[in-house]
Amino acid sequence: MIDESSSAERKPVYLDHHATTPVDPRVLQAMMPYFSQMFGNAASTDHLYGNEAAQAVDEARAKVAELIGAQPQEIVSTSGATESDNLAILGVAERHVSNGKHVITCSTEHKAVLDTCKNLESRGFRITYLPVDRYGMVDLNRIESAIGSDTILISIMAANNEIGTIAPLKEIGRIAKRHDVLFHTDAAQAFGHIPLDVDEMGIDLLSISGHKVYGPKGIGALYVRRLKPRVKLTPQMHGGGHERGMRSGTLNVPGIVGLGEAADIARREMADESTRVRELRDYLWRELQARIPGIELNGHPEQRLPHNLNVYIPGVQNRALLVQLKHVVALSTGSACTSTDVEPSHVILALGYDEARAHSSVRFGLGRSVKLRSELPIDAIADAVARLRCMT
Ligand SMILES: *Cc1c(COP(=O)(O)O)cnc(C)c1O
Repeated sequence: MIDESSSAERKPVYLDHHATTPVDPRVLQAMMPYFSQMFGNAASTDHLYGNEAAQAVDEARAKVAELIGAQPQEIVSTSGATESDNLAILGVAERHVSNGKHVITCSTEHKAVLDTCKNLESRGFRITYLPVDRYGMVDLNRIESAIGSDTILISIMAANNEIGTIAPLKEIGRIAKRHDVLFHTDAAQAFGHIPLDVDEMGIDLLSISGHKVYGPKGIGALYVRRLKPRVKLTPQMHGGGHERGMRSGTLNVPGIVGLGEAADIARREMADESTRVRELRDYLWRELQARIPGIELNGHPEQRLPHNLNVYIPGVQNRALLVQLKHVVALSTGSACTSTDVEPSHVILALGYDEARAHSSVRFGLGRSVKLRSELPIDAIADAVARLRCMT
């Protein structure tokens, strides 16, 4: 075991919960037996070992379903939200190609959606990338007017991973239903953080990631509606016909159990936890405003994830700031998925801002690992900003 207290230096405060979250100790505990004593294959139900695993999978599926108002049979297990997005978009596109080759999405989506749509484009599909306003909101009228007789899918994320803007899901669902078009939402950042209900919101497909909700990495799920309408997908992984034929491959039983436990904890604690992190976030924002002249908010002032803050700090390069603060706080410039290149955030640019603003924007992601106001390194951030501004 690694003794954290004896390490020479304390680790920086973790404020990057949109990139990933630590596995909750209760989640880890729930998973442990399924690596060793209960190692059965959930598809081998001719004996006790398989039955134990299958039962654990069923229970976990029910917990995930409950958090979004779905039925357990509607939850397809995947390796993460990237795979879920691929399965939803490619699966619908391939299955429904005879009805049309048009998909509607928006410019601030995660790469898992944007790159999947690009793949469809190269295969002759037409994709509409809707613009967003200054707050990252997609315009409902634009969605509706983009729908044509060949439109088969609308894919709009539930909450943005950089600026935290929450989409009007219920209204989008209503539009989709009115035009008989399927509605997929990438809910990797929303699941377990804000209330979601697939029936109330008219959602047909919903992507989930384990590691964004204090579950393990390498596990996710796709909600696939079974009634009104019964959504059909072309599988992207062929094999033994697991997961109602939609996703073959031996089930990741410990991961599935972990995601189930993470969902169950979120169901019980989400309301209190979101109030707590919102209060911390609002405090952080007030303090940063008081100490950093010219600082501005990116994203929506109200319709945003309670643990998200994204700010523009004029005159400060975000990379330089993160280097200065490296030993104090773990922050991000936004998308971790393009971390090796220094391209400006496509999300900040989509809000209508220039590259300078994109290179001077920083994302804070609060979460369970931050307990107290005093843990927020506000002075260190303000000092680093002042130093960098002096240097230029
Ligand atoms: C993290 C994330 C993904 C990818 O999820 P993985 O489980 O890591 O594949 C997709 N979409 C959004 C919005 C995300 O935040």
